[in-house]
Amino acid sequence: MLLRVCRVVRAAARAHSSSARSERLRSQAYIGGRWVEAESAARFAVREPASGQLLTDVVDCGPRDASTAVRAASDSLAGWRAATSKERSRLLRKWHNLMIQNKDELAKLITAENGKPLKEATSEIVYAASFLEWFSEEARRIYGDVVPTSSPDRRILILKQPVGVVSIITPWNFPSAMLTRKAGAALAVGCTVVVKPADDTPLSALALAELADEAGIPAGVFNVIPSSKSNTPAVGEVLCTDPLVAAISFTGSTATGKILLRHACGTVKKASMELGGLAPFIVFDSADLDRAVAGAIASKFRNSGQTCVCTNQFLVQEGIHDAFVEKMVKAMHRDLHVGNGFDEQTTQGPLINERAVEKVENQINDAVSRGACILTGGKRHRLGATFFEPTLLSNVTTDMLCTKEETFGPLAPVLKFRTEEEVIAIANAADVGLAGYFYSSDLAQIWRVAEQLEVGIVGVNEGLLSTVEAPFGGVKQSGLGREGSKYGVDDFLEIKYVCFGGL
Ligand code: ADP
Repeated sequence: MLLRVCRVVRAAARAHSSSARSERLRSQAYIGGRWVEAESAARFAVREPASGQLLTDVVDCGPRDASTAVRAASDSLAGWRAATSKERSRLLRKWHNLMIQNKDELAKLITAENGKPLKEATSEIVYAASFLEWFSEEARRIYGDVVPTSSPDRRILILKQPVGVVSIITPWNFPSAMLTRKAGAALAVGCTVVVKPADDTPLSALALAELADEAGIPAGVFNVIPSSKSNTPAVGEVLCTDPLVAAISFTGSTATGKILLRHACGTVKKASMELGGLAPFIVFDSADLDRAVAGAIASKFRNSGQTCVCTNQFLVQEGIHDAFVEKMVKAMHRDLHVGNGFDEQTTQGPLINERAVEKVENQINDAVSRGACILTGGKRHRLGATFFEPTLLSNVTTDMLCTKEETFGPLAPVLKFRTEEEVIAIANAADVGLAGYFYSSDLAQIWRVAEQLEVGIVGVNEGLLSTVEAPFGGVKQSGLGREGSKYGVDDFLEIKYVCFGGL
Protein backbone atom coordinates (compact mmCIF):
# COMPACT_ATOMS: atom_id res chain seq x y z
CA MET A 1 0.00 0.00 0.00
CA LEU A 2 2.67 2.42 1.06
CA LEU A 3 4.31 2.23 -2.33
CA ARG A 4 1.11 3.00 -4.14
CA VAL A 5 0.24 5.91 -1.87
CA CYS A 6 3.73 7.29 -2.39
CA ARG A 7 3.05 7.35 -6.09
CA VAL A 8 -0.19 9.22 -5.43
CA VAL A 9 1.70 11.73 -3.37
CA ARG A 10 4.34 12.22 -5.99
CA ALA A 11 1.59 12.82 -8.53
CA ALA A 12 0.00 15.42 -6.27
CA ALA A 13 3.29 17.13 -5.61
CA ARG A 14 4.11 17.12 -9.31
CA ALA A 15 0.70 18.54 -10.12
CA HIS A 16 1.59 21.43 -7.81
CA SER A 17 4.41 22.44 -10.11
CA SER A 18 3.54 20.89 -13.47
CA SER A 19 0.73 19.05 -15.21
CA ALA A 20 2.41 15.64 -14.97
CA ARG A 21 0.05 12.84 -13.90
CA SER A 22 0.54 9.46 -12.37
CA GLU A 23 -0.40 6.33 -14.29
CA ARG A 24 -0.64 4.35 -11.12
CA LEU A 25 -3.23 6.10 -8.98
CA ARG A 26 -6.06 3.89 -7.79
CA SER A 27 -8.60 5.08 -10.27
CA GLN A 28 -10.90 2.09 -10.66
CA ALA A 29 -14.05 1.35 -8.69
CA TYR A 30 -13.76 -1.12 -5.82
CA ILE A 31 -16.65 -3.57 -6.04
CA GLY A 32 -16.89 -7.01 -4.46
CA GLY A 33 -13.22 -6.87 -3.46
CA ARG A 34 -12.02 -6.21 -7.02
CA TRP A 35 -10.77 -3.12 -8.82
CA VAL A 36 -12.98 -2.70 -11.87
CA GLU A 37 -13.80 -0.36 -14.75
CA ALA A 38 -17.30 1.01 -15.27
CA GLU A 39 -19.55 -1.05 -17.54
CA SER A 40 -19.51 1.87 -19.96
CA ALA A 41 -15.69 2.11 -19.66
CA ALA A 42 -16.22 5.85 -19.06
CA ARG A 43 -13.89 7.95 -16.92
CA PHE A 44 -13.94 11.49 -15.56
CA ALA A 45 -11.25 14.00 -14.69
CA VAL A 46 -10.18 14.82 -11.13
CA ARG A 47 -8.52 18.21 -10.91
CA GLU A 48 -6.49 20.02 -8.32
CA PRO A 49 -8.65 22.96 -7.16
CA ALA A 50 -5.58 25.13 -6.55
CA SER A 51 -4.43 25.08 -10.17
CA GLY A 52 -7.16 23.39 -12.17
CA GLN A 53 -4.55 20.89 -13.34
CA LEU A 54 -5.48 17.30 -13.99
CA LEU A 55 -4.55 14.91 -11.18
CA THR A 56 -5.85 11.78 -12.86
CA ASP A 57 -9.01 10.38 -14.35
CA VAL A 58 -11.24 8.00 -12.48
CA VAL A 59 -13.83 5.37 -13.36
CA ASP A 60 -17.22 6.95 -13.97
CA CYS A 61 -19.75 4.51 -12.52
CA GLY A 62 -23.29 4.61 -13.80
CA PRO A 63 -26.54 3.20 -12.44
CA ARG A 64 -25.74 -0.36 -13.55
CA ASP A 65 -22.42 -0.28 -11.70
CA ALA A 66 -24.28 1.02 -8.66
CA SER A 67 -26.65 -1.98 -8.83
CA THR A 68 -23.67 -4.32 -9.14
CA ALA A 69 -22.09 -2.77 -6.05
CA VAL A 70 -25.33 -3.02 -4.09
CA ARG A 71 -25.61 -6.69 -5.02
CA ALA A 72 -22.01 -7.28 -3.91
CA ALA A 73 -22.76 -5.64 -0.59
CA SER A 74 -25.93 -7.69 -0.26
CA ASP A 75 -24.14 -10.96 -1.09
CA SER A 76 -21.53 -10.33 1.57
CA LEU A 77 -24.01 -9.29 4.25
CA ALA A 78 -24.74 -12.72 5.74
CA GLY A 79 -21.07 -13.51 6.30
CA TRP A 80 -20.20 -10.12 7.76
CA ARG A 81 -23.25 -10.04 10.02
CA ALA A 82 -22.35 -13.50 11.29
CA ALA A 83 -18.74 -12.58 12.08
CA THR A 84 -18.15 -12.09 15.78
CA SER A 85 -18.09 -8.52 16.98
CA LYS A 86 -14.55 -9.19 18.12
CA GLU A 87 -13.53 -10.07 14.58
CA ARG A 88 -15.19 -6.98 13.10
CA SER A 89 -13.52 -4.93 15.80
CA ARG A 90 -10.12 -6.39 14.97
CA LEU A 91 -10.45 -5.59 11.26
CA LEU A 92 -11.60 -2.02 11.87
CA ARG A 93 -8.67 -1.50 14.22
CA LYS A 94 -6.31 -2.83 11.60
CA TRP A 95 -7.79 -0.44 9.04
CA HIS A 96 -7.28 2.40 11.54
CA ASN A 97 -3.65 1.40 12.10
CA LEU A 98 -3.01 1.38 8.36
CA MET A 99 -4.48 4.87 8.05
CA ILE A 100 -2.16 6.14 10.77
CA GLN A 101 0.83 4.39 9.19
CA ASN A 102 0.05 6.10 5.87
CA LYS A 103 -1.08 9.38 7.43
CA ASP A 104 1.29 11.70 5.59
CA GLU A 105 0.62 10.24 2.17
CA LEU A 106 -3.15 10.22 2.70
CA ALA A 107 -3.01 13.85 3.87
CA LYS A 108 -1.17 14.91 0.73
CA LEU A 109 -3.83 13.22 -1.32
CA ILE A 110 -6.52 15.31 0.42
CA THR A 111 -4.55 18.51 -0.16
CA ALA A 112 -4.18 17.62 -3.83
CA GLU A 113 -7.84 16.91 -4.54
CA ASN A 114 -9.53 19.17 -1.98
CA GLY A 115 -7.01 22.00 -1.65
CA LYS A 116 -6.98 22.34 2.14
CA PRO A 117 -3.63 23.12 3.81
CA LEU A 118 -1.51 20.07 4.51
CA LYS A 119 -1.68 20.62 8.26
CA GLU A 120 -5.49 20.55 8.16
CA ALA A 121 -5.41 17.53 5.85
CA THR A 122 -3.18 15.67 8.32
CA SER A 123 -5.60 16.55 11.13
CA GLU A 124 -8.42 15.23 8.98
CA ILE A 125 -6.67 11.88 8.54
CA VAL A 126 -6.12 11.54 12.29
CA TYR A 127 -9.75 12.54 12.89
CA ALA A 128 -10.96 10.14 10.18
CA ALA A 129 -8.93 7.27 11.60
CA SER A 130 -10.28 8.02 15.08
CA PHE A 131 -13.75 6.93 13.90
CA LEU A 132 -12.42 3.53 12.86
CA GLU A 133 -10.74 3.18 16.25
CA TRP A 134 -13.82 4.37 18.14
CA PHE A 135 -16.24 2.13 16.28
CA SER A 136 -13.87 -0.81 16.54
CA GLU A 137 -14.38 -0.35 20.29
CA GLU A 138 -18.13 0.26 20.04
CA ALA A 139 -18.49 -2.89 17.89
CA ARG A 140 -18.13 -4.98 21.04
CA ARG A 141 -20.71 -3.07 23.07
CA ILE A 142 -23.89 -3.34 21.03
CA TYR A 143 -25.91 -4.46 24.00
CA GLY A 144 -29.58 -5.42 23.99
CA ASP A 145 -31.87 -5.55 27.03
CA VAL A 146 -33.78 -8.03 29.16
CA VAL A 147 -36.88 -6.23 30.43
CA PRO A 148 -39.15 -7.14 33.39
CA THR A 149 -42.72 -7.84 32.29
CA SER A 150 -46.15 -7.53 33.89
CA SER A 151 -46.94 -11.19 33.01
CA PRO A 152 -45.25 -13.76 35.26
CA ASP A 153 -45.04 -16.35 32.44
CA ARG A 154 -43.29 -14.04 29.96
CA ARG A 155 -39.86 -12.59 29.41
CA ILE A 156 -38.99 -9.72 27.10
CA LEU A 157 -35.74 -9.69 25.19
CA ILE A 158 -34.58 -6.76 23.06
CA LEU A 159 -32.00 -7.47 20.36
CA LYS A 160 -30.05 -4.98 18.28
CA GLN A 161 -29.31 -6.18 14.77
CA PRO A 162 -27.61 -4.65 11.72
CA VAL A 163 -30.09 -2.97 9.40
CA GLY A 164 -28.48 -4.47 6.26
CA VAL A 165 -26.88 -2.86 3.21
CA VAL A 166 -26.17 0.86 3.64
CA SER A 167 -25.68 3.39 0.83
CA ILE A 168 -23.27 6.14 1.80
CA ILE A 169 -22.90 9.40 -0.12
CA THR A 170 -20.09 11.66 1.04
CA PRO A 171 -19.09 15.28 0.41
CA TRP A 172 -15.83 16.83 -0.82
CA ASN A 173 -15.04 19.02 2.22
CA PHE A 174 -13.89 16.08 4.40
CA PRO A 175 -13.28 13.33 1.84
CA SER A 176 -11.87 10.90 4.43
CA ALA A 177 -13.53 11.78 7.72
CA MET A 178 -17.11 11.79 6.44
CA LEU A 179 -16.50 8.36 4.97
CA THR A 180 -15.07 6.74 8.10
CA ARG A 181 -17.61 8.40 10.41
CA LYS A 182 -20.37 6.63 8.52
CA ALA A 183 -18.71 3.44 7.29
CA GLY A 184 -16.93 2.81 10.60
CA ALA A 185 -20.25 2.76 12.46
CA ALA A 186 -22.09 0.74 9.82
CA LEU A 187 -19.39 -1.93 9.51
CA ALA A 188 -18.93 -2.16 13.27
CA VAL A 189 -22.48 -3.34 13.81
CA GLY A 190 -22.47 -5.79 10.88
CA CYS A 191 -23.83 -3.78 7.95
CA THR A 192 -22.15 -3.77 4.54
CA VAL A 193 -21.78 -0.56 2.54
CA VAL A 194 -21.57 1.04 -0.87
CA VAL A 195 -19.86 4.44 -0.86
CA LYS A 196 -20.29 7.07 -3.53
CA PRO A 197 -17.67 9.76 -2.89
CA ALA A 198 -18.05 13.33 -4.15
CA ASP A 199 -16.98 13.71 -7.76
CA ASP A 200 -14.49 16.44 -6.77
CA THR A 201 -12.65 14.16 -4.31
CA PRO A 202 -12.89 10.43 -5.15
CA LEU A 203 -9.17 9.67 -4.65
CA SER A 204 -9.21 9.67 -0.84
CA ALA A 205 -12.12 7.21 -0.82
CA LEU A 206 -10.28 4.90 -3.23
CA ALA A 207 -7.14 5.06 -1.07
CA LEU A 208 -9.27 4.09 1.93
CA ALA A 209 -10.69 1.18 -0.07
CA GLU A 210 -7.18 0.00 -0.74
CA LEU A 211 -6.36 0.13 2.97
CA ALA A 212 -9.62 -1.67 3.83
CA ASP A 213 -8.57 -4.40 1.42
CA GLU A 214 -5.13 -4.56 2.99
CA ALA A 215 -6.67 -4.71 6.47
CA GLY A 216 -8.56 -7.83 5.42
CA ILE A 217 -12.12 -6.45 5.32
CA PRO A 218 -13.82 -9.22 3.31
CA ALA A 219 -14.73 -8.75 -0.34
CA GLY A 220 -18.06 -6.97 -0.89
CA VAL A 221 -18.32 -5.56 2.64
CA PHE A 222 -16.94 -2.16 1.64
CA ASN A 223 -17.44 -0.91 -1.92
CA VAL A 224 -16.55 2.42 -3.53
CA ILE A 225 -18.12 3.68 -6.75
CA PRO A 226 -16.85 7.05 -8.00
CA SER A 227 -19.16 8.79 -10.40
CA SER A 228 -19.08 12.04 -12.34
CA LYS A 229 -21.38 15.01 -11.77
CA SER A 230 -23.50 13.99 -14.72
CA ASN A 231 -23.87 10.35 -13.63
CA THR A 232 -24.41 11.20 -9.95
CA PRO A 233 -28.20 11.74 -9.96
CA ALA A 234 -28.86 8.35 -11.61
CA VAL A 235 -26.36 6.57 -9.35
CA GLY A 236 -27.87 8.31 -6.31
CA GLU A 237 -31.31 7.16 -7.36
CA VAL A 238 -30.21 3.50 -7.51
CA LEU A 239 -28.48 3.80 -4.12
CA CYS A 240 -31.62 5.23 -2.54
CA THR A 241 -34.26 3.07 -4.24
CA ASP A 242 -32.74 -0.40 -4.72
CA PRO A 243 -34.81 -2.79 -2.59
CA LEU A 244 -31.60 -4.51 -1.43
CA VAL A 245 -30.55 -1.30 0.35
CA ALA A 246 -31.88 -0.91 3.89
CA ALA A 247 -30.54 2.50 4.85
CA ILE A 248 -28.97 5.60 3.36
CA SER A 249 -26.46 7.88 5.02
CA PHE A 250 -25.71 11.22 3.41
CA THR A 251 -23.64 14.31 4.13
CA GLY A 252 -24.08 17.27 1.83
CA SER A 253 -26.41 20.11 0.99
CA THR A 254 -29.97 20.30 2.29
CA ALA A 255 -31.26 20.48 -1.29
CA THR A 256 -29.59 17.17 -2.26
CA GLY A 257 -30.64 15.58 1.04
CA LYS A 258 -34.28 16.31 0.20
CA ILE A 259 -33.92 14.65 -3.22
CA LEU A 260 -32.43 11.54 -1.60
CA LEU A 261 -35.13 11.42 1.07
CA ARG A 262 -37.78 11.53 -1.66
CA HIS A 263 -36.07 8.59 -3.39
CA ALA A 264 -35.80 6.65 -0.13
CA CYS A 265 -39.44 7.01 0.86
CA GLY A 266 -40.64 4.65 -1.89
CA THR A 267 -39.14 1.66 -0.09
CA VAL A 268 -39.21 3.20 3.42
CA LYS A 269 -35.49 3.10 4.05
CA LYS A 270 -33.87 4.36 7.19
CA ALA A 271 -32.13 7.67 6.49
CA SER A 272 -29.43 9.62 8.25
CA MET A 273 -28.77 13.06 6.91
CA GLU A 274 -26.04 15.54 7.80
CA LEU A 275 -27.13 18.63 5.90
CA GLY A 276 -26.36 22.33 5.77
CA GLY A 277 -26.09 24.74 8.67
CA LEU A 278 -26.16 28.48 9.24
CA ALA A 279 -24.11 28.64 12.41
CA PRO A 280 -24.47 31.78 14.52
CA PHE A 281 -21.48 32.93 16.57
CA ILE A 282 -22.72 35.19 19.36
CA VAL A 283 -20.42 37.43 21.39
CA PHE A 284 -22.02 38.89 24.51
CA ASP A 285 -20.67 41.98 26.28
CA SER A 286 -19.30 39.83 29.13
CA ALA A 287 -17.19 37.66 26.79
CA ASP A 288 -13.43 37.23 27.06
CA LEU A 289 -12.64 39.20 23.92
CA ASP A 290 -9.33 37.56 22.99
CA ARG A 291 -10.79 34.10 23.46
CA ALA A 292 -13.79 35.04 21.34
CA VAL A 293 -11.59 36.34 18.53
CA ALA A 294 -9.43 33.20 18.57
CA GLY A 295 -12.57 31.04 18.49
CA ALA A 296 -14.04 33.16 15.71
CA ILE A 297 -10.99 32.74 13.49
CA ALA A 298 -10.92 28.97 14.08
CA SER A 299 -14.62 28.47 13.57
CA LYS A 300 -14.95 30.70 10.50
CA PHE A 301 -11.80 30.07 8.50
CA ARG A 302 -11.03 26.37 8.93
CA ASN A 303 -10.98 24.71 5.51
CA SER A 304 -11.39 28.24 4.06
CA GLY A 305 -14.87 28.38 5.57
CA GLN A 306 -16.01 25.19 3.86
CA THR A 307 -17.43 23.13 6.71
CA CYS A 308 -21.07 22.75 7.65
CA VAL A 309 -20.27 23.88 11.21
CA CYS A 310 -18.34 26.98 10.10
CA THR A 311 -19.73 30.23 11.50
CA ASN A 312 -22.06 31.80 8.97
CA GLN A 313 -22.76 35.04 10.84
CA PHE A 314 -21.25 36.85 13.81
CA LEU A 315 -23.75 38.45 16.17
CA VAL A 316 -21.95 40.86 18.49
CA GLN A 317 -23.48 42.82 21.38
CA GLU A 318 -23.26 46.60 21.04
CA GLY A 319 -20.95 47.17 24.06
CA ILE A 320 -18.18 44.92 22.69
CA HIS A 321 -18.91 45.23 18.97
CA ASP A 322 -16.29 47.81 17.92
CA ALA A 323 -13.48 46.20 19.91
CA PHE A 324 -14.36 42.75 18.50
CA VAL A 325 -14.37 43.98 14.92
CA GLU A 326 -11.06 45.79 15.36
CA LYS A 327 -9.38 42.71 16.86
CA MET A 328 -10.83 40.45 14.17
CA VAL A 329 -9.31 42.54 11.40
CA LYS A 330 -5.93 42.44 13.14
CA ALA A 331 -6.14 38.69 13.73
CA MET A 332 -7.14 38.04 10.12
CA HIS A 333 -4.17 40.02 8.83
CA ARG A 334 -1.82 38.29 11.27
CA ASP A 335 -3.07 34.67 11.15
CA LEU A 336 -4.58 34.01 7.72
CA HIS A 337 -2.29 33.28 4.80
CA VAL A 338 -3.81 32.43 1.43
CA GLY A 339 -1.85 30.02 -0.73
CA ASN A 340 -1.46 26.56 -2.18
CA GLY A 341 -2.18 23.92 0.48
CA PHE A 342 1.22 22.35 -0.14
CA ASP A 343 3.01 25.55 0.93
CA GLU A 344 3.91 25.38 4.59
CA GLN A 345 2.77 28.85 5.62
CA THR A 346 -0.68 28.51 4.00
CA THR A 347 -3.69 28.57 6.29
CA GLN A 348 -6.25 29.36 3.57
CA GLY A 349 -6.26 27.10 0.56
CA PRO A 350 -8.43 27.51 -2.55
CA LEU A 351 -12.17 27.01 -2.56
CA ILE A 352 -13.30 23.75 -4.14
CA ASN A 353 -14.22 25.33 -7.49
CA GLU A 354 -15.13 28.60 -9.19
CA ARG A 355 -18.83 28.21 -8.42
CA ALA A 356 -17.94 28.41 -4.74
CA VAL A 357 -16.02 31.64 -5.37
CA GLU A 358 -18.97 33.10 -7.28
CA LYS A 359 -21.28 32.35 -4.35
CA VAL A 360 -19.06 34.28 -1.91
CA GLU A 361 -18.73 37.15 -4.37
CA ASN A 362 -22.47 37.27 -4.88
CA GLN A 363 -23.14 37.40 -1.13
CA ILE A 364 -20.63 40.26 -0.72
CA ASN A 365 -22.13 42.24 -3.61
CA ASP A 366 -25.60 41.78 -2.18
CA ALA A 367 -24.49 42.84 1.31
CA VAL A 368 -22.61 45.91 0.08
CA SER A 369 -25.55 46.97 -2.08
CA ARG A 370 -27.69 46.91 1.10
CA GLY A 371 -25.26 48.95 3.21
CA ALA A 372 -22.60 46.56 4.54
CA CYS A 373 -18.97 47.77 4.79
CA ILE A 374 -15.94 45.74 3.73
CA LEU A 375 -13.33 46.03 6.52
CA THR A 376 -10.83 43.67 4.92
CA GLY A 377 -10.74 41.44 1.85
CA GLY A 378 -13.79 41.55 -0.39
CA LYS A 379 -12.45 40.26 -3.68
CA ARG A 380 -10.89 37.38 -5.55
CA HIS A 381 -7.29 36.64 -4.66
CA ARG A 382 -4.57 37.23 -7.24
CA LEU A 383 -3.41 33.58 -6.86
CA GLY A 384 -6.08 32.25 -9.19
CA ALA A 385 -9.71 31.58 -10.01
CA THR A 386 -10.47 29.47 -6.93
CA PHE A 387 -8.82 31.72 -4.35
CA PHE A 388 -10.68 34.38 -2.38
CA GLU A 389 -9.50 36.93 0.17
CA PRO A 390 -10.62 36.34 3.76
CA THR A 391 -13.29 38.99 4.19
CA LEU A 392 -14.89 40.83 7.11
CA LEU A 393 -18.13 42.76 6.65
CA SER A 394 -19.66 45.09 9.23
CA ASN A 395 -23.04 46.86 9.26
CA VAL A 396 -24.64 43.61 8.23
CA THR A 397 -28.42 43.26 8.62
CA THR A 398 -30.79 40.32 8.56
CA ASP A 399 -32.16 41.13 5.11
CA MET A 400 -28.80 40.28 3.49
CA LEU A 401 -28.20 37.01 1.63
CA CYS A 402 -25.11 36.19 3.71
CA THR A 403 -27.30 35.82 6.83
CA LYS A 404 -29.83 33.54 5.15
CA GLU A 405 -27.80 31.34 2.83
CA GLU A 406 -24.92 29.05 3.83
CA THR A 407 -21.74 30.77 2.57
CA PHE A 408 -19.21 27.91 2.53
CA GLY A 409 -16.38 30.35 2.03
CA PRO A 410 -14.07 32.81 3.85
CA LEU A 411 -16.66 35.52 4.51
CA ALA A 412 -17.32 36.80 8.05
CA PRO A 413 -20.37 39.07 8.27
CA VAL A 414 -20.85 40.92 11.58
CA LEU A 415 -24.26 42.08 12.89
CA LYS A 416 -24.70 44.26 15.97
CA PHE A 417 -27.40 43.38 18.53
CA ARG A 418 -28.66 44.85 21.81
CA THR A 419 -30.42 42.21 23.92
CA GLU A 420 -30.19 38.46 24.57
CA GLU A 421 -33.81 38.07 23.52
CA GLU A 422 -33.16 39.80 20.21
CA VAL A 423 -30.11 37.67 19.38
CA ILE A 424 -31.84 34.39 20.21
CA ALA A 425 -34.68 35.38 17.87
CA ILE A 426 -32.20 36.16 15.05
CA ALA A 427 -30.29 32.89 15.57
CA ASN A 428 -33.42 30.76 15.76
CA ALA A 429 -35.07 32.31 12.71
CA ALA A 430 -33.10 29.92 10.50
CA ASP A 431 -34.86 26.85 9.14
CA VAL A 432 -31.66 24.84 9.74
CA GLY A 433 -29.81 24.26 13.03
CA LEU A 434 -26.51 22.42 13.05
CA ALA A 435 -23.89 24.26 15.16
CA GLY A 436 -24.09 27.44 17.24
CA TYR A 437 -21.39 29.22 19.25
CA PHE A 438 -21.54 31.85 21.94
CA TYR A 439 -19.11 33.62 24.23
CA SER A 440 -20.19 34.86 27.64
CA SER A 441 -18.92 34.79 31.21
CA ASP A 442 -22.38 35.08 32.79
CA LEU A 443 -23.22 31.61 34.10
CA ALA A 444 -26.98 32.07 34.14
CA GLN A 445 -26.88 33.43 30.61
CA ILE A 446 -24.74 30.47 29.50
CA TRP A 447 -27.39 28.02 30.67
CA ARG A 448 -30.26 30.04 29.17
CA VAL A 449 -28.65 30.47 25.77
CA ALA A 450 -27.30 26.91 25.50
CA GLU A 451 -30.81 25.60 26.15
CA GLN A 452 -32.57 28.01 23.83
CA LEU A 453 -30.41 27.82 20.71
CA GLU A 454 -32.16 25.62 18.15
CA VAL A 455 -29.12 23.65 17.00
CA GLY A 456 -27.69 20.17 17.52
CA ILE A 457 -24.20 21.28 18.59
CA VAL A 458 -23.37 24.19 20.92
CA GLY A 459 -19.96 25.69 21.58
CA VAL A 460 -19.82 27.69 24.82
CA ASN A 461 -16.64 29.77 24.78
CA GLU A 462 -15.28 27.29 22.25
CA GLY A 463 -14.99 27.50 18.46
CA LEU A 464 -13.86 23.99 17.46
CA LEU A 465 -16.19 21.23 18.62
CA SER A 466 -16.01 18.14 16.41
CA THR A 467 -14.59 15.09 18.13
CA VAL A 468 -15.23 11.36 17.92
CA GLU A 469 -16.69 11.11 21.43
CA ALA A 470 -19.49 13.65 20.89
CA PRO A 471 -22.64 13.30 18.77
CA PHE A 472 -22.57 15.29 15.52
CA GLY A 473 -25.85 16.26 13.90
CA GLY A 474 -28.47 18.94 13.52
CA VAL A 475 -32.09 19.85 14.15
CA LYS A 476 -34.72 21.30 11.78
CA GLN A 477 -33.60 20.99 8.14
CA SER A 478 -29.99 20.31 9.14
CA GLY A 479 -30.74 16.64 9.16
CA LEU A 480 -31.68 13.40 10.82
CA GLY A 481 -29.66 11.26 13.21
CA ARG A 482 -26.30 11.65 14.91
CA GLU A 483 -22.82 10.51 13.86
CA GLY A 484 -19.83 9.64 16.02
CA SER A 485 -20.16 9.06 19.78
CA LYS A 486 -22.03 6.14 21.33
CA TYR A 487 -25.13 7.24 19.36
CA GLY A 488 -23.41 6.92 15.97
CA VAL A 489 -24.33 3.25 15.58
CA ASP A 490 -28.07 3.77 16.15
CA ASP A 491 -28.92 4.63 12.55
CA PHE A 492 -27.45 1.30 11.41
CA LEU A 493 -29.30 -0.88 13.90
CA GLU A 494 -32.78 -2.32 14.08
CA ILE A 495 -34.34 -3.03 17.45
CA LYS A 496 -36.06 -6.40 17.66
CA TYR A 497 -38.44 -7.30 20.47
CA VAL A 498 -38.54 -11.02 21.28
CA CYS A 499 -41.27 -12.21 23.63
CA PHE A 500 -40.81 -15.54 25.42
CA GLY A 501 -44.23 -16.85 26.51
CA GLY A 502 -45.59 -19.82 28.48
CA LEU A 503 -42.69 -19.90 30.93
P1 ADP B 1 -22.21 20.50 -2.72
O1 ADP B 1 -23.15 21.42 -3.41
O2 ADP B 1 -21.54 21.11 -1.57
O3 ADP B 1 -21.27 19.77 -3.62
P2 ADP B 1 -23.97 18.27 -2.68
O4 ADP B 1 -25.09 18.00 -1.75
O5 ADP B 1 -24.31 18.59 -4.10
O6 ADP B 1 -23.12 19.42 -2.02
O7 ADP B 1 -22.92 17.06 -2.70
C1 ADP B 1 -22.71 16.16 -1.65
C2 ADP B 1 -22.65 14.76 -2.21
O8 ADP B 1 -23.91 14.48 -2.82
C3 ADP B 1 -21.61 14.53 -3.29
O9 ADP B 1 -21.15 13.19 -3.19
C4 ADP B 1 -22.42 14.69 -4.57
O10 ADP B 1 -21.85 13.99 -5.66
C5 ADP B 1 -23.72 14.03 -4.15
N1 ADP B 1 -24.90 14.41 -4.93
C6 ADP B 1 -25.20 15.60 -5.48
N2 ADP B 1 -26.39 15.53 -6.12
C7 ADP B 1 -26.84 14.26 -5.98
C8 ADP B 1 -28.00 13.53 -6.42
N3 ADP B 1 -28.96 14.10 -7.13
N4 ADP B 1 -28.10 12.23 -6.07
C9 ADP B 1 -27.15 11.63 -5.34
N5 ADP B 1 -26.03 12.24 -4.89
C10 ADP B 1 -25.88 13.54 -5.20
